[in-house]
Amino acid sequence: MTVLALDFETANERRDSACAVGLAWIADGRVVRRESHLIRPPEMRFAPGNIRVHGILPANVADAPDFATAMAPYLGDLSRGLILAHNASFDIGVLRAGLARAGLPVPDLAYLCTVQVARRVFPAPEGCGLGKVARRLGIRFEHHDAGEDAYACAEIALAAMRERDAADVHALAAALGLPITRAAGGPPRRALGAISGRAMAAFPAEPAALRFTMLGSTGNRYTVALEERPGGPQLRCTCTAGRYGVRCRHVKALEVGDITHLISDNASDVVLLARMLGAKMRVAGAA
Ligand SMILES: [Zn+2]
Repeated sequence: MTVLALDFETANERRDSACAVGLAWIADGRVVRRESHLIRPPEMRFAPGNIRVHGILPANVADAPDFATAMAPYLGDLSRGLILAHNASFDIGVLRAGLARAGLPVPDLAYLCTVQVARRVFPAPEGCGLGKVARRLGIRFEHHDAGEDAYACAEIALAAMRERDAADVHALAAALGLPITRAAGGPPRRALGAISGRAMAAFPAEPAALRFTMLGSTGNRYTVALEERPGGPQLRCTCTAGRYGVRCRHVKALEVGDITHLISDNASDVVLLARMLGAKMRVAGAA
């Protein structure tokens, strides 16, 4: 199972104001991949206290992608994998709020808080803040840079695994008696009129313009396309399940913005598609 550390910085006190994200993937007892990106928050309101923490200014994110676009490549791993975060309720809250604000469905999420891990494995009177634990463990990083914070969070989990002889993060959680928290997702609940309006306006006159090539698990290629149906546009896939009218895994992946198995060069259309479907669901729900 994919295990990845997640860290957000926010522009202000709102959970849906992410202005930076950092991710660090763990495999075979080490950090194997790191990503960090600036994000343009829905409102350009930066609280002085937040700026003091992360140093990100409105001008830094003016040309950055919005939340949905920045996060699209990682939603597959985040929804299928186990997320590590230091003060997980904050970062998971930002992820959920950001997706909801963008009018995207919120996937089911499984996560483990590394503050809880550190309190059990590396307790100290000074506490278990990210900077303090990292300093105690000799992890070198630039605190309050999202990419660096995610990296430090991953290294804390790895250090705890070594300390407790745990083969992986699941074994560590079990050994510490810490349950993996599972947060149920849901369809888009509430989106700003401006965003859903934009999504609707972006709805192509010819829905067939949205076509995606997906790589199946056996190496076959399938085409997922939006078809006009009496109940509204619907994704149909050319795989066996799809031809029998089943909402197959390829369709489900695209619905949540998961582009892991997308081969065609139109990842940004997946974001558009997820937004459109979200807007459609809201319209259907309101009717
Ligand atoms: Zn399919």
